[in-house]
Amino acid sequence: MNEDWRTLDIANPTEEHAMLREMVRSFVIDEVEPQALEYNRDEKFNAALFRSLGESGLLGISVPSEFGGGGMDATAVAIINEELSYSDPAFCLAYLAHDQLMVNNLAQNGNEDQKSRILPKVCSGEWIGCMAMSEPDHGTDVLGMETSAVQRDDGNWVINGRKMWITNGSLDDDGGTADIVWLYARTGTDDRGRAEITTFLVEKGTDGFSVGQKIFDKLGMRASNTAELVFEDCVVPPENVVGSPGESMIHMMRNLELERLGLAAMAVGISRRCLSAMNSYASERKAFGMEIRDFGQIQRHIAESWAEYRAMRAYVYDTARQIDLAKSGNRLDSDGVKLFATTIAKNIADRAIQVLGGYGYVGEYTVERLWRDAKLLEIGGGTLEGHQKNIARDLRADHDAIER
Ligand SMILES: Cc1cc2nc3c(=O)[nH]c(=O)nc-3n(C[C@H](O)[C@H](O)[C@H](O)COP(=O)(O)OP(=O)(O)OC[C@H]3O[C@@H](n4cnc5c(N)ncnc54)[C@H](O)[C@@H]3O)c2cc1C
Repeated sequence: MNEDWRTLDIANPTEEHAMLREMVRSFVIDEVEPQALEYNRDEKFNAALFRSLGESGLLGISVPSEFGGGGMDATAVAIINEELSYSDPAFCLAYLAHDQLMVNNLAQNGNEDQKSRILPKVCSGEWIGCMAMSEPDHGTDVLGMETSAVQRDDGNWVINGRKMWITNGSLDDDGGTADIVWLYARTGTDDRGRAEITTFLVEKGTDGFSVGQKIFDKLGMRASNTAELVFEDCVVPPENVVGSPGESMIHMMRNLELERLGLAAMAVGISRRCLSAMNSYASERKAFGMEIRDFGQIQRHIAESWAEYRAMRAYVYDTARQIDLAKSGNRLDSDGVKLFATTIAKNIADRAIQVLGGYGYVGEYTVERLWRDAKLLEIGGGTLEGHQKNIARDLRADHDAIER
């Protein structure tokens, strides 16, 4: 019997993945960690550091190298997100919005002209992108979106509407928009009364495209910019429509699988950091003449966090292994892993604060920031309730998934 499979490290399945992890980990130690506390406190997005990720091919990790990307897969995405989130989940959220929501989407669904025109710019960091799906009145029921686009006789499209909560939608505090937006808009209604959705690539400087507001005072993820975007008679040429009009539900659903995996991988990074912090502190801190790790209640915090972290890590990388970026088909597990990992990460961060006592409650010790950041993972990219709904629906249609 071939025993090679026993040596497989599911989180670093190939040498290339292990090297990628090592490279990102050292970048995080040298560049990300030193700025994380300050940028979060000041609610600033570190655009310069972000653009520098382009030098190592990270800004389009799943994009073929001919367009300036890293040519890798969903496991590579999970590795990068885990490592960045160990230090700065907000910086990672900006990365996710660009790399996974905008750039990967274009690499999978764009035509050759769009890919050769835009991918080199977003992969190098010259342009920072975002994905605009949610609206002020439509989040979970995204197909009720009101932003609409109508094609004029001259072939151009006119877009009207507002998008809400858009990560990287603004890049500064002065109304500067993202360099490019992957925008979903309604362009019709099908026979069953459902929205027909079309994807538009809206470039910075396009007339009628602006930032409505940068959203301040978020609970967490404060070093990533979140904005409302406004489209007011915004004219977009036909060459910036991705795919055929009305067919973007496929792009949306396929990319949501990667987004959910990416958010779950962020939860792994948060959990590892918090577990590491509580485990070290439990040996350093003494009370009643002994290390606090000798108290049963502290042991419970550490032990449960370890077991849950290990389970989450296995589920994340097993799901990543199965995702083919060019296809959909992993909705059960991309919903499942995000449902599981995100709440676990929040709970592990909560335990880390508890183990650190008063020190855990202040910024310098990091775990309070990770706890605040972890909460967003239960909302963004689909709420917990949305995942519960999807999983129950999918298991009704595919009961055999349980027995396989
Ligand atoms: C920091 C941040 C960054 C974000 N970045 C982006 C981005 O880059 N691009 C983007 O497009 N969006 C982004 N979002 C938006 C995010 O995806 C939405 O907030 C999310 O989908 C939830 O939508 P909502 O806020 O409108 O809540 P709602 O959908 O209104 O939900 C409110 C509550 O009702 C529940 N609910 C709704 N429908 C059901 C149902 N059928 N069954 C049971 N419960 C239900 C929800 O689970 C939730 O508890 C971001 C949000 C935040 C906070």
